[in-house]
Formats: sequence, structure tokens, C-alpha cells
Amino acid sequence: MPLLQVSDLQVEFKTNDATVRAVNGVNFTLEAGETLGIVGESGSGKSQSVLAMLGLLASNGRASGQALYRGENLLGLSGKALNRIRGNRLSMIFQDPMSSLNPYLSIERQMTEVLELHKNMTRRAAKKRAIGMLEAVRIPEAAHRIGQYPHELSGGMRQRVMIAMALLCEPEVLFADEPTTALDVTVQAQVLQLLRDLQRDFGTSIVLITHDLGVVAGLCEKVMVMYGGRVMEQCDASSLFAKPSHPYTIGLLRALPRLDKSGGELTGIPGNPPNMAHPPAGCPFHERCAHAAEDCVQHVPALRPVDGVHWLRACHRPAEDMITRYQEASHV
Ligand code: SF4
Repeated sequence: MPLLQVSDLQVEFKTNDATVRAVNGVNFTLEAGETLGIVGESGSGKSQSVLAMLGLLASNGRASGQALYRGENLLGLSGKALNRIRGNRLSMIFQDPMSSLNPYLSIERQMTEVLELHKNMTRRAAKKRAIGMLEAVRIPEAAHRIGQYPHELSGGMRQRVMIAMALLCEPEVLFADEPTTALDVTVQAQVLQLLRDLQRDFGTSIVLITHDLGVVAGLCEKVMVMYGGRVMEQCDASSLFAKPSHPYTIGLLRALPRLDKSGGELTGIPGNPPNMAHPPAGCPFHERCAHAAEDCVQHVPALRPVDGVHWLRACHRPAEDMITRYQEASHV
């Protein structure tokens, strides 16, 4: 059985205006040591899918379906039962370390608290382990830095502290929500390398949420592309980059700078993501898709296998046509 098995995950929010269906029928599995990238623009449902599994939705949110972790449905657990797992076996790195770290507490207190709570460690033993973890994420002078407060650290160091905190209890699954977005490119590359090294050393499974397919290329084995609360394409990362079959995936790839090709303009996807309070009928991408036709406006495309069971896509146009067009345009 996979470490994590998510089936028909749905998330909705009740607002004064409407019921917002943020996530519609997400399915995936995650094996031990595997990395899954969930990709999409803001509002695609990627973060809400993960927050739902961890019981961290806003108070007007409701999740249904199944998220089995070692056979136990996370969506059915009480807050107390989830607290035993969260921060311990399942951990999360948030996008903005400045708003996730407590500005009133030293790094030491924030780190030792986790170990005292989940591992019953003494303060002294917890501090030793916390310093070791800060060293593992390459914080220089860790024994000194641990006594500092978040505002005394640079953005890159705060992100490393967040990663160290998330790894303190050696989680089996690490959820990382845009862990490099707030960082400049050099620090971004260092943090991604750090995640790769930690995965190798600790065997952690990672679910990486990102809008950047470049980050997926460097870290993930599997990828799920989301748009308008639905999965558009889902497969192993190498297939996605070699043979993207969904117009939205192709749009994301065309907007990505390439180091292996010179010249050519980057092409953005025209328009904006849909308003999820009033989503368009049919395919959620039809208002921005160059291949949209009447059937796209009328019917939501089902997520169907392209090639075996591990490559799925939701589009009315044939996969082969889209792949051929992409490869011809890209001179692959
Ligand atoms: Fe485009 Fe239609 Fe495919 Fe949606 S179903 S991605 S609108 S071609």
C-alpha cells in the first residue's frame, strides 16, 4: 500500500456569495522516498488540496473524499489525533517564513517545543538535536544562531530554519508550499539542493507545491498539473517534459525560460485564471485555450488515461495531436 493515497479529494468554501469549489476530485498516490510536484497558477487548488489533508483549511472550508496515510483517513481524524501526526510524521514548510515563524520566540524555543511535544525530549536534549538539524540545513554558527529571533536572520536563513523545523521529527512526508518563491535565484538553488540532499539522507517523501515547472524538473519524479480546482494532466515528470499533452501544460512550458535553447520569445498564457466563485462552464481552461471549441464550453473533460494508467489528462482534443504540435513548434 502507498504511504499516502488520496482519492476523490474535494474542497469547498461557503462564502456569503457562493459555494466555492476549490478542489474537484483529486487522486494521487505517494510512495516512500518519492517526490510529487503539484503545479498550477494561484487559485488552481494546489495549496488547498494539501491544507485539507493536514486539517488546516479556513473555518468556512470543508473537505471530503479520502486521504489515507498508512491506511488511516486523515480527513476523518479529530483535531487531537491530527496533532499527533502533524509536525511529527507529516510536516509542512510554508511559503513565507516571516509570517510562519513566531517573531516573539527565539529559534531555540520554536524548535525545542516541537521535540518536547512530539518526542518527549528534555529541553537540553532537544536543543542539541535542534542545533544538529540547523547544521544539517547549513546554517553557519548554528549554536549561536539558535539563540536569535527570526528578524535577525536573512530570508534564506529563515527558510532554512523552517525546513529544519519541519524535519526535526524526521517526518515521512514533507509538504513544501512554494518553499523558494520568496527567495532570490541563488538562494532558491541552494534550498532546492538542500531538499534533494535531505531526501537522500532521510528518505523523506516530498509533496512540492509550485507554480514553477523549472522547480519540478529539478526535484520531482511525478507531477500533477492543476487548473481551476481540477487536475489537467498527471504523469511522471520525464513524460511531462518530453511529451506534454495538455494545452495548459504546454502553455506553462512555453512560458518557461530554457537554458538548452537560444533565442525565441517566451509566450505567456493570455487571460487570467477563473473566478472560482463563478467558474466557467465546461473545461475550466476554455477561456484561455487556443484549441477550445464548442464541446469545451459545453462539457467538462474527464480525466482519462493517455498511455496506461500512470498518465492521465483532461482534454477533449486528442493527446497525440497536442504532443505533435508541441514537438514540432519546439523542434524536439
Ligand atoms: Fe482546451 Fe478544450 Fe482541451 Fe480544455 S478541453 S484544454 S478548452 S482543448
